[in-house]
Amino acid sequence: MTRRKLFHAAVGSSLAHALLAGGQQTSGRRLTPADSLPEADKNRKLKVVFIGAHVDDWCGCAGTLARYSQQGHAVVCYSFTPGDSQSMADAQHISLDALAKLRREDAARGAKIIGAQFRVLNQRNQNMRVDPDVYDQFNRTISAENPDVVFGMWPLEFHPDHRAAAMLAYNTWLASGMRFAFYFCETPEASEMTAQQFSPNRWVDIEPVIELKRERWPPILSSRNGGRNARCGPSFAAESTAASTPKRSSGLPLSPLSGPEHCAPALA
Ligand SMILES: [Zn+2]
Repeated sequence: MTRRKLFHAAVGSSLAHALLAGGQQTSGRRLTPADSLPEADKNRKLKVVFIGAHVDDWCGCAGTLARYSQQGHAVVCYSFTPGDSQSMADAQHISLDALAKLRREDAARGAKIIGAQFRVLNQRNQNMRVDPDVYDQFNRTISAENPDVVFGMWPLEFHPDHRAAAMLAYNTWLASGMRFAFYFCETPEASEMTAQQFSPNRWVDIEPVIELKRERWPPILSSRNGGRNARCGPSFAAESTAASTPKRSSGLPLSPLSGPEHCAPALA
């Protein structure tokens, strides 16, 4: 199987993951007890934003997002691209526009199930741009949301769109002056989509909303189609996240330019 085919092959489960920013790894042990929603201890209505490359990327964080909305918080899921996967269109024997429309509708229905809004931006599948103009434009988009918590994708990943989305999301946090909590999320299994050097340090119990997640997962037309049964099992009723905001006022946290260096092979 070629690398390109692998890109379009089945990808990981829906368990959300995250890792401390700046390359610092944790031991992988659970640092926070399950059932802890980031920032929920603020005891006020939160704005929670998920930033993904594709229309179905938010599904990896669906349980956590559903728990926020069930507690009365506002949840918005962004997709940089409109569902325009040529390989999926070819596989379905439909036009690219028809596929994209179906996937957007599917994603919007799914977001509604978990009580979230769904928004699509203007990038293109397998052709995402990351440059100063895009950074500025997206910073303004997220600034207008005035979020309390943002979930992004982990940047060390094989899919170029996921890497691009990760950089754009992370940059919004930096550009904001780290005013909101930022968490990386990823899909932990299956072929080349597996995030590299990714070790979550926070887990959210999604058992209270697992039926919603089962209802939502997998999307009707999704590039994510592996491990359907396993990920819905009770033993997987948790999603993992990790903050990039241990201390917001201390400058760039966990800078790889200070302290011990962390080195590991890219393909562990
Ligand atoms: Zn994706």
